[in-house]
Amino acid sequence: MRNKETICVQGAYEPKVGEPRVAPIVQSTTFYYETLDQMADLFDLKADGFFYTRLANPTVDYLEKKVALLEDGSGAMACSSGMAATTLAILNVCNAGDNIVCSNAIYGGSYNLFSVTLKKYGIETKFINPDAPACEIEALIDDNTKVIFGETVANPNIIVLDFEKFSNIAKKYGILFFVDNTLSSPVLCQPKKYGANIILHSSSKYLDGHAVALGGVVVDCGNFEFKGNKRYPEFNTPDESYHGLVYADLGSTAFITKARAQMMRDMGAMMAPQNAFLTNLGMETLHLRMKKHAENAAVIARFLKDNPLVEWVKHPSLKEDPYYELGQKYLPNGSTGMMSFGLKGGLDVTKKFISNLKLIANVTHVADVRTSLLNPASTTHRQLPESALIEAGITPNLIRLSVGIESADDIIADIKNALSNL
Ligand SMILES: *Cc1c(COP(=O)(O)O)cnc(C)c1O
Repeated sequence: MRNKETICVQGAYEPKVGEPRVAPIVQSTTFYYETLDQMADLFDLKADGFFYTRLANPTVDYLEKKVALLEDGSGAMACSSGMAATTLAILNVCNAGDNIVCSNAIYGGSYNLFSVTLKKYGIETKFINPDAPACEIEALIDDNTKVIFGETVANPNIIVLDFEKFSNIAKKYGILFFVDNTLSSPVLCQPKKYGANIILHSSSKYLDGHAVALGGVVVDCGNFEFKGNKRYPEFNTPDESYHGLVYADLGSTAFITKARAQMMRDMGAMMAPQNAFLTNLGMETLHLRMKKHAENAAVIARFLKDNPLVEWVKHPSLKEDPYYELGQKYLPNGSTGMMSFGLKGGLDVTKKFISNLKLIANVTHVADVRTSLLNPASTTHRQLPESALIEAGITPNLIRLSVGIESADDIIADIKNALSNL
């Protein structure tokens, strides 16, 4: 297999003679065939090909293959957003009456999806502190637990997932282990190496990297045995809505085939070809960007840590950080450009600081080339009840900083200036 740098640049796109050198945008909802039989074979999954963009499109396909290669997966499915990817991946295995055991330190949008929306459809989520001992996590598992869910680096609390602990539990009970790898990207972490079965990305973040295209990707690591696993009867019985196909018979592509054939077919949250093109383009420099994001973040975390006006800083690059060891274990080449910190003096000081900044922008976005920040308690997490905020460790003064790839000196100068004018 090629190295990550090469996959980022050239991915799975191999043009034939006379075809565009750059993976083109195929802006067509539909595809032409000469005979009915040709098309019937596609519907039966007997042949590979495109017939309707809701299910597959060449531009989207290049992106899916690139992400699958980077994550060493058996296949991937690109969706209209990260939330769509998470929703379809969960619904691919959970029905009413099923449950998810989930780290409580996850992206606010995923927390809402699990705790409010999925609950309305009868899917329960049992949240747990990701640092809880294995026995406490195991105690939440029952016969209807279909997914164990965590984030490589949890946003906004910058907690590094103890992969080994979670994957051992998942293996012991034969449960799928889902990992949202958005904030590290496959360049800095390959969760499959640490036991993940399904990987999720909000490609709106580092994969695109330029804040221009919303999207999400579900990756099947191809390493979960559905065949005969009684926890997943839907994978072991014929799908009457798909010609009696038994997904477990497909082996390493069981999950992703079912996700596309059922979930994407019925819910239609496909990534648009235009967005796949932009994401593909962004990903051509992912390896360079991630290196710089991680380098800059380490420099800025150190600067903040040593500043007397700063109350606390969380970033796994800091030796003092409680997640330093886990960071070294799972993210040895850098963890993420994301960090969080709090200023002494609470929310008023925080507000003044943010309005003093000139280079660093206050935006509802993270993980693009431009340095940005956000105060979750007053924005992304404001719908959460106070008890959930406390449980997730989100204090009112928490500033989530997404370090970009500008000059670290200029970023620090902006922070210094904002601090000196408090
Ligand atoms: C942003 C984000 C999501 C949701 O992705 P969208 O593309 O905004 O729908 C999911 N997980 C994590 C970790 C994120 O940062």
